[in-house]
Amino acid sequence: AKKQGGGSFSFFSEELRRELDHRKQLEHDIRIAISEKEFQVYFQPQVSLSNGSISGIEALVRWTHAERGAIAPGEFIPVAEKCGLMPEIGRIVIAKAIHEAADWNRDGIAFGRLAVNVSGSELREPDFDAFLFDTLQKAGLPPEKLSLEIVESVILDDEKTGIAAKLRHIRAAGVHLELDDFGTGYASLSHVNPNEIDRLKIDRRFVQKINENGDNTKIVRAITELARGLGISIVAEGAETEAELNSLMALGCDQVQGYSIAFPMPQEKAREWLVARAP
Ligand code: C2E
Ligand code: CA
Ligand code: CA
Ligand code: CA
Repeated sequence: AKKQGGGSFSFFSEELRRELDHRKQLEHDIRIAISEKEFQVYFQPQVSLSNGSISGIEALVRWTHAERGAIAPGEFIPVAEKCGLMPEIGRIVIAKAIHEAADWNRDGIAFGRLAVNVSGSELREPDFDAFLFDTLQKAGLPPEKLSLEIVESVILDDEKTGIAAKLRHIRAAGVHLELDDFGTGYASLSHVNPNEIDRLKIDRRFVQKINENGDNTKIVRAITELARGLGISIVAEGAETEAELNSLMALGCDQVQGYSIAFPMPQEKAREWLVARAP
């Protein structure tokens, strides 16, 4: 370590060191979690606001650390991205989710479409599309039953890295594509092309307290009108209350996902939920 002069600088450097130690430890634990198969998948349903039918179900990674207990994706995903482990974790999650959805499909359990989150680092892997097609085929899930949730910034990162071409290839096979966290990025409108995108997902920051917050109401109304004009469907994320659901319905939002409908659930629970919900 370097010799420091000022007290404040040495305090800062102490903080930084702790931060680095923490990240190193987490990185080490993530590697163990991969080999020990500690990553699990939870599922959170999405329902149609017009008739209550199930329109989709999102797969969300979960990690229960042997000593620390549950660690949120918001804590470990940034570290996994920094140390290049996210593509590996992503494939574990995607494969598990696709196999589970294929089982539902075979058992005649309606789930709409399975939605999986895919980050830029996962998509940039040269064989991501091959992995996806191979997994769908092995599991026996039709590509039409799958949707990829991708944030805007990744879609913008297009031609040079070959992501755009890869996404077109994946979509041509029948897989749906959607813009996740819509409204939080930039240059959104130029990238909302109905020939490339099937669904917009409104981030929960615009959905929460929408009934009390006039600005959120305006934003959601604008996004909903944009989507309707373009013929793209729309799902609102993070609706926690009946009042939020009612506001979303009044604004003409197609679908909703959130604690007011269901929490993310482990696979057995998700299956029971889907079966109980079926008409
Ligand atoms: P996201 O894609 O925006 O996912 C929605 C997040 O909102 C999830 O957090 C979900 O549990 C949470 N949520 C759903 N309904 C409600 C609600 O009514 N109220 C509140 N307060 N929260 C709600 P989670 O599971 O912690 O995931 C955080 C983020 O981590 C996700 O945000 C996504 O960006 C990323 N992520 C999760 N799983 C995966 C994965 O398998 N692969 C990749 N690449 N990213 C993932
Ligand atoms: Ca998502
Ligand atoms: Ca996200
Ligand atoms: Ca979000």
